Amino acid sequence: MSDLRELYQEVIFDHNRHPRNFGKLVKANRHAEGFNPLCGDSLDLYLIVDNDRITDIKFEGQGCAISTASASLMTEVLKGKTLTEAEQLFEGFHQMVTTGQQPSFDIGKLSVLAGVSEFPARVKCASLSWHTLHAALNNSNQPVTTE
Ligand code: ZN
Repeated sequence: MSDLRELYQEVIFDHNRHPRNFGKLVKANRHAEGFNPLCGDSLDLYLIVDNDRITDIKFEGQGCAISTASASLMTEVLKGKTLTEAEQLFEGFHQMVTTGQQPSFDIGKLSVLAGVSEFPARVKCASLSWHTLHAALNNSNQPVTTE
């Protein structure tokens, strides 16, 4: 188990050091801003949604290792997914980081963040990108805050 935990930490550190899909998406047709005042994490999320499918997704921002790694993992997992699949992943991810239980369906690499459930203050860091995703998909112009 501790080996597995170390492996998970490696994945999180790697995504924090080398975030995937980092940058602005000039042709984005969905965008939202998110902020977690508890930790100071902020992020901008850009998406291209075509026919109910996320064909491209990128993020920019500054935050702690957990928020950056979570946003990076989220963009990797969501690229190419339908909006229905994205919603299901959001629910599974949220359940996992709040209860520590893996969902009944496969959430892929997102499972490396299960340990976050042991640190309640970090749950908001891990879920910031997902709440921002919700706002972007609902075309909300209000910046999202985890408070
Ligand atoms: Zn944070």
